[in-house]
Amino acid sequence: MGKLQDSTAVITGGNSGIGLATAKRFADEGAAVYIVGRRQAELDQAVQAIGGHVRAVQADVTQLTDLERLYAIVKQERGGLDVLFANAGAIEQRALEAITTEHYEQTFDVNVKGLIFTVQKLLPLMRAGGSVILTGSVAGVKGLPAHDTYSAAKAAVRSLARTWTMEWKGRGIRVNVISPGAIDTPIIDSQAATPEQAGALRAAFAVATPLGRLGRPEEIAAAALFLASDDSSFVTGIDLFVDGGLAQV
Ligand code: NDP
Repeated sequence: MGKLQDSTAVITGGNSGIGLATAKRFADEGAAVYIVGRRQAELDQAVQAIGGHVRAVQADVTQLTDLERLYAIVKQERGGLDVLFANAGAIEQRALEAITTEHYEQTFDVNVKGLIFTVQKLLPLMRAGGSVILTGSVAGVKGLPAHDTYSAAKAAVRSLARTWTMEWKGRGIRVNVISPGAIDTPIIDSQAATPEQAGALRAAFAVATPLGRLGRPEEIAAAALFLASDDSSFVTGIDLFVDGGLAQV
């Protein structure tokens, strides 16, 4: 019997990296999993890779009509929701002088607006005992050059978990943040112009991390499983760092 047997989970950003590894883990633990992302081909590949009880819903978390469609699908097919992993996110490194309104909007739209409305739209489906998990970042508590908007957005995510912990008092729904350190996913490549630059970025992150390496997406999935399952039944409002020590020292 899996730790999420017969439960229903939605994972945004479930077609890549951390979300994909978590979808696999949740499916292995017996959950019916909905993965959400914009790229249909990656969603299709992820469904193949995950196996088990998984369904892809193509949606952009910054578009409220997409989120309303997601709500309707989960409601019709499952009647309710036990785990919501609001994990979709993106980064474009820019220092203050280079920030444009477009860059600002892109960063905050996916990392903050998308997360807020994902939770707002799906919360009515959450059953008592449910778990909402938000993906933050070590960037939310670190001063990192050229991470101006991204770090601010991830700090907002941590703040929202505090607020929602109190807003949902008495409803039996827990909300926690996972803050990954440097994890080896395509988001690292998205910050580099060439494969060589991506390699240098990975090497720099490994040196900066006390455990001396990047994390694996499966290591975040293990933490997400903890927060999703009854193993964390008395845990709410926390920021769980899974970062090889990067933001701890
Ligand atoms: P990936 O690039 O592998 O995954 C990002 C995911 O977000 C993709 O599935 C992407 O799918 C989805 N996504 C992006 N924009 C949208 C959107 N508008 N609507 C729906 N889905 C969207 O990176 P990771 O797995 O590493 O990132 C997952 C989370 O972890 C992010 O929130 C990131 O900020 C955070 N994080 C990652 C760290 C790392 O080092 N890897 C460190 C700290 C935090 P699609 O493009 O198809 O829409």
